[in-house]
Amino acid sequence: MKGLVWLRRDLRLHDQTALSFATKECHEVELVFIFDKEILGKLKDKTDKRVSFIYECLKEIDEKVGIHVLYGDPNIEIPKLFKKIKADKLFFNRDYEPSALKRDATVMKSISKVASYKDSVFFEPHEVLKNDGKPYTVFTPFKKKWLERFNNLGKNVSDFKVKKSKIKRPTQKFNEKIFKKIGFTYNPAIFKGGESFAKSELKKFEKKIDRYDECRDFPSVDGTSNLSVYIRHGCLSIRELINFSLKDSNKGRDIWLSELIWREFYQMILAQFPKTIKNCFKEKYERIDWRGGSKEFRAWREGKTGFPIVDAAMRCLNETGTMPNRLRMVTASFLCKTLLVDYKKGEKYFAEKLLDFDLAANNGGWQWSSSTGCDSQPYFRIFNPYTQSEKFDGDGIFIKQWCPELRGFSSKKIHSPADADMIEQSEASCRIGVDYPYPVVDYKRKREEAMKMYKEGIST
Ligand SMILES: Cc1cc2nc3c(=O)[nH]c(=O)nc-3n(C[C@H](O)[C@H](O)[C@H](O)COP(=O)(O)OP(=O)(O)OC[C@H]3O[C@@H](n4cnc5c(N)ncnc54)[C@H](O)[C@@H]3O)c2cc1C
Repeated sequence: MKGLVWLRRDLRLHDQTALSFATKECHEVELVFIFDKEILGKLKDKTDKRVSFIYECLKEIDEKVGIHVLYGDPNIEIPKLFKKIKADKLFFNRDYEPSALKRDATVMKSISKVASYKDSVFFEPHEVLKNDGKPYTVFTPFKKKWLERFNNLGKNVSDFKVKKSKIKRPTQKFNEKIFKKIGFTYNPAIFKGGESFAKSELKKFEKKIDRYDECRDFPSVDGTSNLSVYIRHGCLSIRELINFSLKDSNKGRDIWLSELIWREFYQMILAQFPKTIKNCFKEKYERIDWRGGSKEFRAWREGKTGFPIVDAAMRCLNETGTMPNRLRMVTASFLCKTLLVDYKKGEKYFAEKLLDFDLAANNGGWQWSSSTGCDSQPYFRIFNPYTQSEKFDGDGIFIKQWCPELRGFSSKKIHSPADADMIEQSEASCRIGVDYPYPVVDYKRKREEAMKMYKEGIST
């Protein structure tokens, strides 16, 4: 039997479920990846680094075993290739995003023999449910059930081995000419794509994981795994990451495993409640009259709000496509609850910029921060950008990295440079209003306004 394996968010050759089953069942297997015309068409920036990241992942696979890399509509290209190479069975790993489910259902109609597998999550969205069969909407009991199920399996995490010798290299070569075809330019990201780079990033994290609980919230300390972009594209398997977290037992590892469970929680929420893509999870929050204008939204996007921690985080995002989790929460909360701008605008902006953009995690993060989501923080809990800054970037190291014009300020004044008098500004060689903006809004006043805006919205 000949198999065709369709890669999507599983760009690796190790511990890969669909590929493992295909190489076990078939005498010969070919691999394919489709640059989806519709998805690429929606990307405004034709130098989008995520496309280059995917290219690098595919390049490594191509060098090792060979892969067909096509451009077009998967509903047309997959059946066409299936026929052309005279395959008997199509294999792929399941993707739970609503648009992917729709696409896969259509492809499956045109091919008689298809097998799909669980791979990108440890438990699928229907596998961790409440006792009454309903989905969880609160994280803590979800996590409890997740761990209960996991422990009942005897913490048995399989490794789906791949027989690479069964993979046939296509005659057509894959190279950078693909960029011309898809209308993009090669523009490498700070993380290089591919499973070998993912593995070396994981190795670096080995030295940090035991202190993850203490370090993860401090943006100037490299205390997290930096694996999200690799996890997003499946350069590492979720099973190996779970195993990795269990190699020892301590708080750092427990909390890191919790983050992987948050990821599955949001995947489950998106699959069980697909309306959250467009709407607030909590329906009545849909009535909030967001009154922040385009001036505030522009200042936020450009990192020119006059709130240093927010500006540093946004400039970091704009330049690198990454932002530490603590600052994602701070900037998201700031947009909705200080600038009073609709979270959907911020969510869309993050979706355009984040290298690790993942619909479920991004939507979950934004709905949590804006208090519109399931299990989100209450609307009256508003992150104070000044105290967050003092607490998590006390010496202003992260601020100084991304807002160099503020480097001359003391650790005390760097969090709120508009409070510096003329002498301090002159000593710091930074004039507020000239070299760095005044705060775009008055924080205290906006805090009151936000409370009113939420209260009125949800009680109408
Ligand atoms: C507003 C907002 C938007 C976000 N958008 C995304 C996104 O588009 N893609 C994305 O992967 N994460 C997103 N997150 C979650 C989190 O910020 C990133 O996963 C994390 O910063 C990535 O860095 P890391 O790999 O070093 O993570 P680590 O702290 O090392 O965590 C390990 C892994 O766990 C997962 N993870 C961690 N935290 C979360 C979380 N809160 N929700 C879901 N998964 C999590 C990620 O896969 C991450 O790589 C968002 C959070 C917020 C508040």
